[in-house]
Amino acid sequence: MNAELFKSAASYSPIASPIKNHNHKIAIIGGGISSICLAYQLLTLSPKLDITLYCSDEILGSRGSSNKQGAIYPLLQGGQFSVLAELYDLCYPYSVNFYKQINTLNVNFAHQWCGVLQQAFTPELIKRLQQIAREWPSHGQFISAEQSSKLANLTLPYPSLYFKDGGWIWPQEFCQKTAEYLTANFNLSIKTNTHISKLNQTEQHKWQLESHAELIPALFDQVVVCSGHLTNQYIQTQQFDIIPIRGQVSHLSETSTASELKTVLCHNGYMTPAHNQVQCFGATFERDNNNETSNLADNLKNLDQLQQVYEQQEWAKQITEHDIVGQNAAIRATSQDHHPIVGEVMSDDWVKDNVDQNNGKLKRLDKLIGKPKTYPNSDHHGLFIMTGLGARGLTTAPLMAKHLASLMLNQQSPLSDRLIKSIAPMRFQVRALKRNKGTH
Ligand SMILES: Cc1cc2nc3c(=O)[nH]c(=O)nc-3n(C[C@H](O)[C@H](O)[C@H](O)COP(=O)(O)OP(=O)(O)OC[C@H]3O[C@@H](n4cnc5c(N)ncnc54)[C@H](O)[C@@H]3O)c2cc1C
Repeated sequence: MNAELFKSAASYSPIASPIKNHNHKIAIIGGGISSICLAYQLLTLSPKLDITLYCSDEILGSRGSSNKQGAIYPLLQGGQFSVLAELYDLCYPYSVNFYKQINTLNVNFAHQWCGVLQQAFTPELIKRLQQIAREWPSHGQFISAEQSSKLANLTLPYPSLYFKDGGWIWPQEFCQKTAEYLTANFNLSIKTNTHISKLNQTEQHKWQLESHAELIPALFDQVVVCSGHLTNQYIQTQQFDIIPIRGQVSHLSETSTASELKTVLCHNGYMTPAHNQVQCFGATFERDNNNETSNLADNLKNLDQLQQVYEQQEWAKQITEHDIVGQNAAIRATSQDHHPIVGEVMSDDWVKDNVDQNNGKLKRLDKLIGKPKTYPNSDHHGLFIMTGLGARGLTTAPLMAKHLASLMLNQQSPLSDRLIKSIAPMRFQVRALKRNKGTH
């Protein structure tokens, strides 16, 4: 597959120039961390843009981004240089700097750069995490159980891969506070309680949105769907297979025997230091379940998971269900290949007409009907998506948003061609085409 294919269709044109126009109108559908990071990145690149963000909930960050404390650390692999590890190698330091940068704007949201301990609690994990520490020394160091215990301020029986720059943020508060900053300083307007039910393309190649069976009068040049696991709710996006994975996080009271924890602790699940009388731990993973209602049974699953890993530790053994004072359930949006899905939406017809089925590359221009000078726009021209951030969206969202903002504004992406291909929405259509099954 050639890299050019996976960039925005607009970038195929040799005359494409950066968009800086204050009349350029963009709609973002979603009120989670993807949408807020994208609005921030777009307005930083082009401060005169006119952006409207639509969120079906009353409060921003109420769905996948509703967790009280989410960990920031990379998903790395040793042994082979995987594209996913390459992605996290960039996303992890970028996200830490991004959140720190937002803080310098007097945007205050709960967070702590307290370090993250990824515990090596099996012999296989010891080998794997040691190898990762050797291959990614700037991100993580392998440390003993004693060193881990000292940093965590709790007795830990296992050595760890220690991400000293990592920590946690409260994503919902980040969304709300950053949105306040952006609306005060830029032309961003936020419409909550507004469920967008339909995307319509006008004859003038603009986008008009429909909410509650009524057309919204504004016309948009570009639309971005950042609706988590619901991103494929529209006719134009329904071809994307987004797997919902339900997760419930439980909240421990400030008096539990784990309350002295000073770092983020990751094992099969995770646990964060206490903040505002609450300490998060969990989480459950239920594939193909999109039920956002929390339940008490999942709190017991989280407790059981913790006590299985720390079966000899007094602090873990003494925690009971009575220490659990709350919980939050939400849905992770995951793609089939576990990579984010970020980029322009191309129609199946565009892919069939412009991509060579044999090698997955763009067809030569002289092989296209009418022998055009440049590749035609997709019939969904101006439509983009950002989803599939799975269980690490807080770490990947800032850089994914920077990439998408660059594509939308015809500017240089911060990602390599290999990474652009690995996250482009069109990859699924091209794979289907190459498998000779045609597109959906
Ligand atoms: C239990 C759990 C634990 C997690 N822990 C971590 C962690 O420790 N570290 C980490 O990095 N990540 C973690 N994640 C993942 C991370 O929270 C997500 O990847 C991220 O929040 C996804 O953000 P998003 O903006 O893409 O989607 P969401 O936050 O789900 O936002 C989607 C938005 O779209 C809106 N919407 C949907 N349809 C419409 C419509 N038709 N019209 C208008 N608006 C619409 C919704 O109202 C919502 O505002 C966790 C996730 C869960 C569920």
